[in-house]
Formats: sequence, C-alpha cells, structure tokens
Amino acid sequence: MQDFLPFTRPTIDDETVAAVAAVLRSGWITSGPRTQELERELAAYLGPGREVRLMTSATGGLEMALKAIGVGPGDEVVVPAMSFAASANVVVRLGARPVFVDVELRSRNVLPDAVAAALSPRTRAIMPVHFAGLAADLDPLLALARERGLRVVEDAAHAIGTRYRGRLVGSFGDIACFSFHANKNMTTIEGGALSYADPALSLPLERERFHGITKDAAGNVDVFGAGGKYNLTDVAAAVGLGQLRRLEAFNARRRELAGHYFARLGPRVDPDILPLPGDDGHSWHLFALLVPLARLRCSRDEFIARMRARSIGIGVHYPSIPGLTYYRQLGWDPAAFPNAARIGAETVTLPLFPAMSTGDVDRVCDCLLELLQC
Ligand SMILES: *Cc1c(COP(=O)(O)O)cnc(C)c1O
Repeated sequence: MQDFLPFTRPTIDDETVAAVAAVLRSGWITSGPRTQELERELAAYLGPGREVRLMTSATGGLEMALKAIGVGPGDEVVVPAMSFAASANVVVRLGARPVFVDVELRSRNVLPDAVAAALSPRTRAIMPVHFAGLAADLDPLLALARERGLRVVEDAAHAIGTRYRGRLVGSFGDIACFSFHANKNMTTIEGGALSYADPALSLPLERERFHGITKDAAGNVDVFGAGGKYNLTDVAAAVGLGQLRRLEAFNARRRELAGHYFARLGPRVDPDILPLPGDDGHSWHLFALLVPLARLRCSRDEFIARMRARSIGIGVHYPSIPGLTYYRQLGWDPAAFPNAARIGAETVTLPLFPAMSTGDVDRVCDCLLELLQC
C-alpha cells in the first residue's frame, strides 16, 4: 500500500521550528515583537497605503471588520451561497442578516450583476470570497459599492498571494481578511489578518481585538468598550514569518501542480467539471472538481471512500451555506441557489500542497480517471 496522500499538508521548515523555539525560550511568548514584525512584513508585502492587524482567526477578523464598519441589527450583508459557513455566521453573530447570492459554476465566485440584484436599502456591505484562491471580479464590485455607499469586506481566507489584474488581493479595496489556518496557503497554525486602507479603523479594531483597551502616553490602561480577545501570539507569528518568506514560492509551486492537473485531466474529462484555470494571479488554495455522481451512480461518500482505499485523501469545500440546517431553519431555500447547491453536492477537493510531487499528481489522476471511467 502506498503512503497516504492527504488533500493538504503544511510545509514548516527547520528555520521556522528554530524561530518558534527561540520565542518559547525568550520569556515573551504572547503578542509582542514577532507579532509586530509579522504585521510590518505583511504590510510591506501588500504594498503602500495599507494597515495590517493580526488576530487569532479570519472568522474573528471578519466579525471585527463588519463591526468596525457599523454592521449591526437590521443590516444586511451580501454573502456568496458557496463559501465556508464562517462567511455568513459572522454576519448573524452581529445581529445582521446575510443575503445569499448564487455563484458562477466554474469560478465559484459571485458575479457583480447577481450582487447588484441582491442589494436592498438595508444592505450595509458586500462580502466577496476569492474562492480557492481565484480572485472575484473586484472592479465592478468596488464600483457598485462606491455608487451605492456600501463597504466591501473581502473574505480573502483563500487568497493570500492571489492577484487581481496583477495586483495583490489586500493591496486595494476597503478591507480584506486573510486566514492563516493550518490548511491555508500560509499558516500561523490558527490566525488571520485584516488589511485595510482607512487608518481610522485601527482604533476600533485594536480595541475590539484586546478588551476595549487603549493605553495613554504614560502606559495607563483605560477601557473604551466591551472589546473581545483576539490577539495573536508571538509563537504563532514566528511560524507566520517563516511562512511569509516562502509564500510566493509556495504559491508558484501550487500553480505548477494545478497546471499538471489540467494537463492530465483536461484532455480526458468534461471541461464543465474542472475549475476555471484563471491566470498567474490564481494562488490555487484548492483544486476542486465536480464528480458526475448521477452518471457514476455512486454517492460522494462512496467516491471519497474509493479514493481513500487508494490512499488518496479528498476534501469537501463546501456544502452550500443555504443548505446547512441552521440556514434552512432561518428560512433559506437551497434550491434558490442552483450552482451552489450543485457544487455543494458534487465537489471534491484533490490533494494540492507545495511539498507534493508531479508524480503525486499523476497518481491522483490515474485513480480519478479510473473511477470516472474516462
Ligand atoms: C478558512 C475560512 C474562513 C475562516 O478562517 P479561520 O481563520 O479558520 O477563522 C473563512 N472563510 C473562508 C472562505 C475560509 O475558507
């Protein structure tokens, strides 16, 4: 039996392990110099005119961002019907209402016209998701938001290193939120970052991140709100610094491996089941395709079990949000979002991570093509 190939695996180098050990031995292990350094390095990576704040997760970051722009009870936020549940959950947690829009089948991203049709007088913000690392079409979304006086909060959890029209996601627009969860393109084990343009957001975000506290010049503590507790540790930041140094190389390798998947699968399968190839700006967080389950007369669970029996791990990203029990209970009808429903039912994520070899991709494709009978 061959070694099990998981659908993803982080790459942590010895230098990073040593940097973590140095933090652990330093006597200062929570937020401190390494966290500040990672905020500076991320801001430098994203380019001029951006503020960056780290936090313990993208989920916390999205919630903090929406709160900082004033989203609350009675407000609506436009969210893709195909994303991780966190994109919608954060809206509900603020007492606001997520309004779902269907996504385009192959890009898994929202189309600006569909977003425009979902706006109401209660809409406060639009939350595009750069699904799998492929940038959503931001220019028309930003123009629409400007025209209607709305904010755009990008769920860029998949998109650190993604470029839109040659520019890094998070280097423009109102607010972008990255995830550094263990499975994402760069990791701090758990963690996230907000990149934003308006320096006036720093104060509310910092207060929300740490107990509502702001210190005066003499270092005296005062509390200006019932803030939360979302600060990243220096141990985590040391991991992130090691990851950020290699991010461009990681993503270039992901692109090569995705290219090899296309080279192997493109000539053999229906193009409709493959993801959009995108351009050089695609950071290939995920390589997901739609399995023709009806033709194969098999369930996705069976398909995944067959791949697993061949020592290949498969992920599922994601069930459609309106089809999840909680959102159905809130009154959403998953059938109203047919592309999200189909993706949610048929999607499988193939192994893709920087330490994979092209031989691994070949192995996945051989098994896949055998199971797809093509
Ligand atoms: C991973 C993910 C999140 C949440 O990120 P965390 O850092 O785990 O909180 C949000 N949205 C999407 C699309 C994600 O994939």
